[in-house]
Amino acid sequence: MSADPNDHRRFAEAADAYRVLSDAKARRAYDARRLLRLAPPLDRLMNIAEDPAARARMVSRIVQGLNKLSQRAQGNDGHDLLLPWDLTFAQSYTGAEIKFSYSRPLRCGECDGTGFRTHHACDVCGGAGRLTVRAVPGLTKRCPRCGGHGVAGTGRCGNCRGRGLLRTTSHATARIPAGVANGTRLRLKGHGVAGRFGGRDGDLIVRLDVEGSLQYTRDGRDLIVEKSVDLETALSGGVLEIESPDGRAVDLPAAGGLYPGQRLGVAGRGFPSPTTDERGDLIVVIDVRSPADLAPDERRLVAQWLDQARITRGQVSPALVASVRRVIRKKA
Ligand SMILES: [Zn+2]
Ligand SMILES: [Zn+2]
Repeated sequence: MSADPNDHRRFAEAADAYRVLSDAKARRAYDARRLLRLAPPLDRLMNIAEDPAARARMVSRIVQGLNKLSQRAQGNDGHDLLLPWDLTFAQSYTGAEIKFSYSRPLRCGECDGTGFRTHHACDVCGGAGRLTVRAVPGLTKRCPRCGGHGVAGTGRCGNCRGRGLLRTTSHATARIPAGVANGTRLRLKGHGVAGRFGGRDGDLIVRLDVEGSLQYTRDGRDLIVEKSVDLETALSGGVLEIESPDGRAVDLPAAGGLYPGQRLGVAGRGFPSPTTDERGDLIVVIDVRSPADLAPDERRLVAQWLDQARITRGQVSPALVASVRRVIRKKA
């Protein structure tokens, strides 16, 4: 049961105020305590105590409050369950429908969750779980015989050994929206541990652990991918073919003068926000492959070109470009 932390305080206040109105001795003690604490003036409370209508209203409010508080404790609520679930990088990009099986305690069918071999409505409260407090009209209290559950019984259920719950394999399906981040938690209402005696069923919390990818990285909503191009493409440009995590091809036209570490963006091809339509960008980070079998002077020339391209952001002198082209032609 998840009680409001203020409930205890409210309960105490209400119970206190009720005693004050009904018991003269307690009233004197209350007065003394209130005065000591310099609490709000007592006259107000005394005025209420002397006005029958106001007193009736106050008593009724207190009774309602007490009933509401104690009724919450009637059933046994089931706990929430945590289920970690591995999601592939591609699934986090496209979204997915996942089906899973997991073990959870459910109400025993033999005894309907009571744990008794035979059970019936409690004889004392007639199954209501509550008893009327005769001295105070309208006020009820928890039945001491059944502990508020309203159920009595004999013997122990052999099926669940008196526990009322049995571990059972359950199946569930969840829709994972595209763009979910690592560690996202989904709450499946009522799929956790079963409640007993009318208590609510707990929830299943599915924690999504997104697997890493060798090809891609994620930065907020942006999807980052490295693209290796050969020297010829780096010099002259071309259409770069990029594969997005869902397997679809993205054609990215690039001008010549590509250099290692250069970032090209494709708007709107990153991760979608799971809650809005906004999408991040696909960011392509360029890497340039130079031929393996270069002579030392050729390798120096290529290195010089790559350095200059990086520094000038692709604006390389035509003479240097022409020299590198001659190297490439020789290799082709
Ligand atoms: Zn009872
Ligand atoms: Zn049972």
